[in-house]
Amino acid sequence: MKSLARSPHFLFAALLLLQQSLHAQDKNYARKIVDTLASPAMHGRGYVMKGDKIAADFIAAEFKKLGLKPLRENGGWFQYFSFPINTFPGNMTLQVQSKGRKKPDPLQPGEEFILRSNSPSIKGTYQVIRADKQAVATESGWQSFREKDLRKKFVYVDTAGISDKKQLRLLEDFVKYPRDVKGFIIPVRPSPIALEEGHNCSRMLPLDLAQVQSTVPVIEISAPADSVTHITINAQAKYIKSYKSQNVLGYIPGSQYPDSFIVFTAHYDHLGHFGKTAYFPGANDNASGVAMMLNLAAHYMKPENKPKCSIAFLAFGAEEVGLLGSRFFTEFPQITLKNIRFLVNMDILGTGDEGITVVNATLFSSEFKEMQRLNAQGSYLPQVKSRGKAWISDHHFFTEKGVPCFYIYTLGGIKAYHDVCDRSQTLPLTKFDEIFLLLRDFTAVIDNR
Ligand SMILES: [Zn+2]
Repeated sequence: MKSLARSPHFLFAALLLLQQSLHAQDKNYARKIVDTLASPAMHGRGYVMKGDKIAADFIAAEFKKLGLKPLRENGGWFQYFSFPINTFPGNMTLQVQSKGRKKPDPLQPGEEFILRSNSPSIKGTYQVIRADKQAVATESGWQSFREKDLRKKFVYVDTAGISDKKQLRLLEDFVKYPRDVKGFIIPVRPSPIALEEGHNCSRMLPLDLAQVQSTVPVIEISAPADSVTHITINAQAKYIKSYKSQNVLGYIPGSQYPDSFIVFTAHYDHLGHFGKTAYFPGANDNASGVAMMLNLAAHYMKPENKPKCSIAFLAFGAEEVGLLGSRFFTEFPQITLKNIRFLVNMDILGTGDEGITVVNATLFSSEFKEMQRLNAQGSYLPQVKSRGKAWISDHHFFTEKGVPCFYIYTLGGIKAYHDVCDRSQTLPLTKFDEIFLLLRDFTAVIDNR
């Protein structure tokens, strides 16, 4: 070794390797994390086939491998909490019979159709009646529509071309407060990227509706349904009254101020399965944030990067169900909330071509200015954009409890979101390294305060 080390070639190679490990290694680790969390084995990190638990076990194992300590005094990685949830673990088939077609056309679950997350099981062949602009054009017309016997029929609700707010409201309320109707079909808002030629991805609403099961199924379909006369559906829903999920909590003790905390949070859960075969990979939302969190943990575990304050890494569950994991944590915090110097929540960090948005920037303007200064100094991202308060991710309940915090998400690049197209293979991690460096610089400022 000694003689080799004297060779200039060896030195050069060693330097090159070191440089690579400083810049490229992080991204490789990140890619591995995103690949794993978004893989079929994680079942979309939801509540079918214990996807959430498999993901939580994986993250806890990574925490352990990196050398973090469990945050809980009992020495466990997990903080458990329970909630009711509607799931789609089984059959999920839909055929639509359109006028002029000899046979019904099968639609692909997740791509061409989706069920609203609170939908009950439904099986059978049903006639489809249309409720559109014409149906609400006059009061008497709407009244006679509502007098129809729809108990064994699906209603295709199409609000296209309606500008009158009152008329729009009639149709919206009809779906919102269903009565004497078998089910609804509504046009989906397709996500802007196509899985492959001719296939769109249907967007799933957040699961906050899914804590209660509705009595009436709502099918969202991406193909035009104007000429659909009948549907044949076999969709199996399973309502779980009390599902036990968990947060995964680790930390690195500070060398000088172990009672003061800098906190990184990212939710690891996603939307789970839609039927037996389709699942939501959630690569950008939010395997990318977990990948950043684990990279930061790896960085601060190195002896040369040891922080003065403690750094906590909180991987929250059930964010998609309505910020349940982070809410539970703020109700039963394992850190005295007053001792948090600053918290950064990371949710959707997979692109960054157009920079990042910082939620709560207007609330914590001096920290935001600092972040902008650090970004300019390192020439990391094209922009660090300011946004005010927003109840959209896990920072929310911390904000409400007076914890200084930001929520950061990337801008630009691919737009797959809450659909089966949010896959690791198409997630670019464009500015992953730059965001990592910005967070590192920002942490140093807080740590040295
Ligand atoms: Zn998310």
